[in-house]
Formats: sequence, structure tokens, C-alpha cells
Amino acid sequence: MSLIQSTPVFWEYPVCDREPIAGWSHGRVTLLGDAAHAMYPVGSNGASQAILDAVALADALADAGDVPEALRRYEDARVAPTSEIVYANRVGGPEGVIDAVEALAPDGFEDVEAVLAYAEREAIVRGYAKKAGFAVAAPENSNTTRRTGMTPSAGPDVIGAQASLDDIVWNILGQVYKPKQLTERSFAWHATFPPETFVPPHFHPTQDEYVYILDGELTLVTGEADHAARAGDLVRLPMGRPHGLFNRSGADVLCLFWVTPTARLYNLFVAIDAMEEQTPDAVVALAAQHEVEFLPPPEG
Ligand SMILES: Cc1cc2nc3c(=O)[nH]c(=O)nc-3n(C[C@H](O)[C@H](O)[C@H](O)COP(=O)(O)OP(=O)(O)OC[C@H]3O[C@@H](n4cnc5c(N)ncnc54)[C@H](O)[C@@H]3O)c2cc1C
Repeated sequence: MSLIQSTPVFWEYPVCDREPIAGWSHGRVTLLGDAAHAMYPVGSNGASQAILDAVALADALADAGDVPEALRRYEDARVAPTSEIVYANRVGGPEGVIDAVEALAPDGFEDVEAVLAYAEREAIVRGYAKKAGFAVAAPENSNTTRRTGMTPSAGPDVIGAQASLDDIVWNILGQVYKPKQLTERSFAWHATFPPETFVPPHFHPTQDEYVYILDGELTLVTGEADHAARAGDLVRLPMGRPHGLFNRSGADVLCLFWVTPTARLYNLFVAIDAMEEQTPDAVVALAAQHEVEFLPPPEG
């Protein structure tokens, strides 16, 4: 207290990041660390990313024929993964584990293990660590295949039919979700709805959502009327409008979802997937912490 009282002036410094850019090199000169990709310091970043840059740059300089070629390889390895982390850090980092515990035990707890088991807490933190390139062991005796982040990709590319970000497969309310694309601006995932599974009526106060049906028939429930959406149909779910999605068809439904902006939905799926048991009350509480509001069940 005396330390605070004896301090004459307090300064407040905002933490800022910068929008990612496509390239860092000009001829034989390049950037590294904050100069290349200033990011919110979430999840032990960005000094750690500056170190991973240095490793990738040293590898490229050791392996490439000339400096401009080395700098191209360095950018190929580092621009895309660091851009992903800039965007991911705007959404939040491994402290998502704190959000998950708070949502499950808003009035406090005696034993954190009883609220969210160690394995589930670890799954949330590890998901972020993998994205940041910390969870991957460097192969021994190799300076050419060392992995320094998520799949490097500086330009347009094609994501395979079965592929998902970081090979993630989530179980969300009995459905199988595979994240396909993630930036701060939008988040897309492939969903498989087994028969009789559903997402109960809810709304997104901060996001527009879309569902493109790839196979099967999904029922959109709006409270006013039910609508069937079949292969090739697009379901539009504007921000703030209540909607539920039900598979009453007796067969699997395959579809592509996306939301814009991403807000906290990616983190919500990480947290739900990590739950030992996805009880309705716990899922509703968690969703409310992540900008998704479920509606109370109809009376009677
Ligand atoms: C509050 C806060 C908490 C953070 N927590 C973490 C964390 O827990 N973990 C983590 O990994 N990262 C964290 N970071 C981020 C981390 O500090 C930076 O990512 C890291 O310091 C970037 O290193 P850098 O070498 O790229 O740049 P800097 O550390 O900024 O180094 C650039 C240097 O260049 C010097 N310089 C600038 N202009 C000139 C010039 N014209 N001539 C000569 N010298 C010049 C500067 O004085 C500075 O010393 C945090 C950042 C903040 C602000």
C-alpha cells in the first residue's frame, strides 16, 4: 500500500497489435519479431514468435542458394502462421481455460478438479499451444524439416476434403465439427449432424451465421415456422435472430457453417469439446460467456 501511495504518477499503456501484412522482405533485408508481426502478448507470445522467426530464418539462410531465395523461404514458413496467431490473439489465448471454469462455476469453487478435470483444462491450453507452434517437438538432427508454426501457407491454397485446422475434430452436442478456416473476420467449420441431433434455439448477438447444406435435410426452427433446408440450400441466420437446427431426417446431414465476425465462437467450441459431460445447463452457461444466447425451453 505504501508503495502505491508513494508513487506520484501512474501511466497507462495500451497494448496494440498490427494488421498482418503479406511480406516482410525487400531484397536482402527482412523483418523479424514485433517489427514483422506485432501481436497482443497472449499465450506467451510474441517474444516466443520472434525466436521461432529466428530459427526459421537461420534454417533458410543455411539451406537456400542465395539470400533473396532464403528470405522467400523464411516468409513462406512464417508469414501465414504468425498472421493466424495475430488474429487468434485478438479472440483470446489459453486463458480460455479461465473462462471455461468461470462459466461452469460462476459462484466460485473449492476444488477446480471437480469443475473442469485436468485433462479438459489441458486440452484447452494445448489447443492454443499447438497453434502457436509450441506443442510440436523439433525432429532430431534436422534443420530443414523443423516445424515452426501451423501449416505454412503464404498464398491461396486448397484445404483437403477431410482436412481440418490442426487436425481438430470436436464433439459438439453429438455433432462432429471440423474447423476449416479461422481469422478474426470469419470462422468456418464442416459439420456432420447424426440423425436426431440438434442445436437448440439460440441467437448470436454479435455475429451473422450461414449454413450451406452439402448432403441431407436439416430443419430450421425459427419460432414462427419450420423450414426444410436440403443439399445446395443456404440457410441465413442474421445477427440477433433466434434459430434452432434439427436433424429429423433419419440420415446424416453434412453442411458447412460460417460466422462473421468470429467473436468468441471458436473458443466456445474448444471449451464445449473439453467438457466431460455436455449437460444443457453447463453448455448454456458457457455459451453465454462466449456471445451465444440459448433460449429457455418452451413451457409445458
Ligand atoms: C505488457 C507486455 C507483456 C508481454 N508479455 C509477453 C510474454 O509473456 N511472452 C512473450 O513471449 N512476449 C511478451 N510480450 C511481447 C514481447 O515483449 C515482444 O514480442 C518482444 O519484445 C519483441 O521482440 P523484438 O526483438 O521483435 O522487439 P523489441 O523487443 O521491441 O526490440 C526492438 C529494439 O529495437 C530498439 N530500436 C527501435 N528503434 C531503433 C532504432 N532506430 N535504432 C536502434 N534501436 C532501435 C528498441 O529500443 C528495442 O530495444 C509482451 C509485451 C508487452 C508489451
